[in-house]
Amino acid sequence: MLVKSQLMNLKPYTPAKPVERDGSEKIELVRLNSNENRHGCSPKVIEAVQQLNQDFSYYPDGLATELTNRLAEYLKVSTSQIILGAGGDEVIQIISRSVLTPGDNIVQADLTFSQYSLHAVIEGAEIRNVPLVEGTHDLVGMAAAADDRTKIIWICNPNNPTGTYINASELNSFMEKVSPNTLVVVDEAYFEYVSASDFPNTIELIETYQNLLVLRTFSKIYGLASFRIGYGIANEELISRLNIVRLPYNTARFSQVAACAALEDMEFVKFSYEQNKLGLTQLEEFFDKENIKYYKSQANFIYIVVKNSEEIAKLLENKGFIVRKFLEGIRITVGTQQDNQLLIQSMENIFVNQ
Ligand code: PMP
Repeated sequence: MLVKSQLMNLKPYTPAKPVERDGSEKIELVRLNSNENRHGCSPKVIEAVQQLNQDFSYYPDGLATELTNRLAEYLKVSTSQIILGAGGDEVIQIISRSVLTPGDNIVQADLTFSQYSLHAVIEGAEIRNVPLVEGTHDLVGMAAAADDRTKIIWICNPNNPTGTYINASELNSFMEKVSPNTLVVVDEAYFEYVSASDFPNTIELIETYQNLLVLRTFSKIYGLASFRIGYGIANEELISRLNIVRLPYNTARFSQVAACAALEDMEFVKFSYEQNKLGLTQLEEFFDKENIKYYKSQANFIYIVVKNSEEIAKLLENKGFIVRKFLEGIRITVGTQQDNQLLIQSMENIFVNQ
């Protein structure tokens, strides 16, 4: 066998289909399956990328100095507390590769972001799934599931795909219980969409807990998914170890420049946040009216609980909307107000006929 035995039962990730722009599709499909920002990105990003000089034959700055400086200033941490990756995805890979060895285990929710368990399998670690309770992480159960071989506990906050969150006091008491030898990663990919006033200030907790790492990304509210930039924040010592595993030039020059420009335009972030709040309300009102169960979301998507998810996803696709189906639910990205309105119209027809 040429590859690790644990790869034998896995299949490569099936990525979302790129948006068709050549008009070859009969209907233009609205992609509501990957939690991208349907409002695009800041015009400042487009301008910055267009103005880039064309020294394409040189490697990018492997330390992403400018972006790291700006992020450090924005987040009020030191530059040595930040690790950048080609998306949060790569930071998850770097963490797993740095921390896990065969025989270790990770603890995660049973319905959460898929990359945590994928990398655990690749590294030969065991996965301990703790069932969500009403779509929410069961932190008491997760602390109880950990033992001295637990190397990472993954908390997705807000959780993908359910959109639920754990609050500051829940996270605090959890951190008090967890062994300092277990890394707790709080994945805040959707942080900028959160409106709950009791949401944790996780970055502040890094000073108290050396075993805490916060993950964020430019792919969601900043609308830079195609550039692939995400980052982790933790104490200096941990970040310097993770940087050993990071590839030397893992973030492209275009991407570094795009992310810097995105940080300059908080108006765009605010606009996206407000549009998302309106969209969530639009969708919630519809689901309430139709008596369809959903989880209250703090993110840019909403999860409905339906047994016939496969059938409903297919019907929606026939109407031009791609959504993400799960075993007993569907996750729908909040779109523009027009997307949401058209989606609701389509769902009205579908659910009436159920
Ligand atoms: N974490 C969560 C919870 C996500 O949903 C995603 C994107 N789907 C990521 C991390 C990674 O996103 P990216 O690699 O685009 O930064």
